Amino acid sequence: MHNLVLFNGPSLRRAGRLLRDLVYPPGCSGCGIRIGEHGGLCGNCWVTVRFIERPFCEVLGLPFSHDPGPGMLCAEAIAHPPPFDRLRAVAIHDGPARALVHSLKYRDRGDLAPLMAGWMLRAGGEAIAACDAILPVPLHRTRLFTRKFNQSAELARHLARLAEKPYLPATLARIRRTSQQVGLTALARQDNVRGAFAVRAGREDEVFGRRLVLVDDVYTTGATVAACARALKRQGAADITVLTFAMAIAEPI
Ligand SMILES: [Zn+2]
Repeated sequence: MHNLVLFNGPSLRRAGRLLRDLVYPPGCSGCGIRIGEHGGLCGNCWVTVRFIERPFCEVLGLPFSHDPGPGMLCAEAIAHPPPFDRLRAVAIHDGPARALVHSLKYRDRGDLAPLMAGWMLRAGGEAIAACDAILPVPLHRTRLFTRKFNQSAELARHLARLAEKPYLPATLARIRRTSQQVGLTALARQDNVRGAFAVRAGREDEVFGRRLVLVDDVYTTGATVAACARALKRQGAADITVLTFAMAIAEPI
């Protein structure tokens, strides 16, 4: 009888939390100080996150330093329209936001994904509300093997759960292995990922005529998400929002 009481739902959840805290002691991802719960960042780091807020370019999501009025596009979006319909990101990729991305990707901090996905849900706003499904930028299976998990897929999975939208982890495939994008020039990045993605055979219906949200952890030059977006548009995707946690830009334009 006693055992039944011990292992009821709330106790089991408490035991789970205790175990998790032993494995991942709660620490701020920005500065490392101990924090009471799994919030990801302490208060001091939180206030230094450079959240991307309006006014920004409706297409590339780049923040404007002055408000040019509603619906304005930045010069880059006009000169080089991207193959996706819009880009949204939570924060500029520096300081604590960069530390969160790094912890998720390289430090086995999968526990950060729900928190980060919650921020992405807010940044994605209407585009998420209007979408039919959410999917991640895929990793090649050999890289998935060495890194153990796909951080974009973790973010997309939690985002889909929070948004109550279908999650499509297997729709898009990386059909050839590519070099790491880190350290390549913008042009080399484009060459590296050209033709690297495709919609899996038999899954075209998940894409044709659909409004999709494509998730990645960081937007740098956009070469990877552009290659994914082209593959999705080739199969008739109606609308593509790229949603990332961080965007690598220097300053508001
Ligand atoms: Zn901190």
